[in-house]
Amino acid sequence: MKRTLYKNADWIITMDEARTRYRHGDLLIEGNQIKAVGTDLEKSLAGTVEIDEVVDASGRVILPGFVNTHHHTWQTLIRNIKATQGLRLEPWLTTMYEIYKDLNTDVARAGIYASLGDGLKTGVTTSNDLWYPHPVGVTGLVDAEIEAARELGIRFHPVRAYHSVTSDIVPPEVVDTTEGVMADAERLVKKYHDPSRFSMCQVGIGPSIAQYETEEIVRATVDLAEKLDIMVHGHLAESQHEVEYTIEHFGCRPVEWFRRHDMLGDRFYYAHCIHLNDEEVELMAKTNTGISTCPISNMYLSSGSCRVPDFLRAGVTRFGIGVDGAASSNSANMMEEIRVSYLLNRLSWGDNSANAEDVLYLATAGGAKVLNRDDIGYLAPGMAADFTLMNWSQLQYAGGCNDPVDCIVLSGDARMVEEVVVNGELVVHKGHLTKVNEEEKRQYVTQVGRELLTRASARIEGLKADLC
Ligand SMILES: [Zn+2]
Repeated sequence: MKRTLYKNADWIITMDEARTRYRHGDLLIEGNQIKAVGTDLEKSLAGTVEIDEVVDASGRVILPGFVNTHHHTWQTLIRNIKATQGLRLEPWLTTMYEIYKDLNTDVARAGIYASLGDGLKTGVTTSNDLWYPHPVGVTGLVDAEIEAARELGIRFHPVRAYHSVTSDIVPPEVVDTTEGVMADAERLVKKYHDPSRFSMCQVGIGPSIAQYETEEIVRATVDLAEKLDIMVHGHLAESQHEVEYTIEHFGCRPVEWFRRHDMLGDRFYYAHCIHLNDEEVELMAKTNTGISTCPISNMYLSSGSCRVPDFLRAGVTRFGIGVDGAASSNSANMMEEIRVSYLLNRLSWGDNSANAEDVLYLATAGGAKVLNRDDIGYLAPGMAADFTLMNWSQLQYAGGCNDPVDCIVLSGDARMVEEVVVNGELVVHKGHLTKVNEEEKRQYVTQVGRELLTRASARIEGLKADLC
């Protein structure tokens, strides 16, 4: 197997348990794994290991690849829609669902190219996707996105989600049956799910918002997840409206509803988790339930601010960051999400807020724990070779390089991301995707996005303005 030495990085930030950093560090990879990390590796390994290629990493900081724990990739084609700007979650969703009626496998592919392409170019090496609207009669959406993710070379955790109930927001055109969802999820798991170490694809299941679904499908979801040993993912306590709805219909708050339905624990992870009281924060920690905070989406939809420092103090370790769907964050730029996460924390929680290294933990090791992966998230021998080379030797960062983590979290942006390696393969080189032609994909995404909005504009008057 090929061995490559990344030599003399200004810093290697491992994000291991001790948060070890190496000044003038070396990283040796062998095939898809990390063989060694430290300093002067050529000297210490002399005579024991043959090195095939040496990459000069001076002027760069090496970090573990980012783990994006919550996303809706198809929304990348319906962002920046004039008809939805300025709306809160529920009215925003009503317009979104009109567009969702027209989703197809081209949208699924195009959404992956645009969103996970953006993710890779901003340092993401593993990404979730939660796909909940499946128009009646349309099949193969998750298959199409898995195939497109493979083309890009990113690790992928798609979740086969669903709707089981028509509502003011959810039209009957995207409502699934329990039998249909379970059969499709089981089929996807059999076809694509790889539970082994260094897996490139793990399939999950989940409701978008569990308490809005039928009791039958929620029970079937938990049972199927246990039977197949897969994870369950969805949204939890994103808006105040959701809290009020749950109290009105079930006489309890959302977290209690999840507890009653056996939906807290190691197998589960949820996006947002904003409207939680002190007891609920403790319960998330005690049950080891995973959390994905999505600050830009929460700001865009005026949803609120996740209690990041309180979760950390309570001992929540399965804790990550997600970019959420681009329709509510308008981008899948993880570098931006990380910086905003820090800033929103400061704004919301002042002196108690999480520090830059805590935020980087969420984007790396914490995110890996959310997905129950023990082979990614930090740099150490035996871990997957998933990492980024951040070029901080550029004018825009000069004067701010006192501490590499502060520089990346507080001043960093996508211009820093020079090389990205996933599973030992170089997937971003000099800031560009290596495995696909970016211009070809851009044209494809533009065409598919335009076709989608054209179809939907027959029903939504406001959309015409976006087609000019
Ligand atoms: Zn979401």
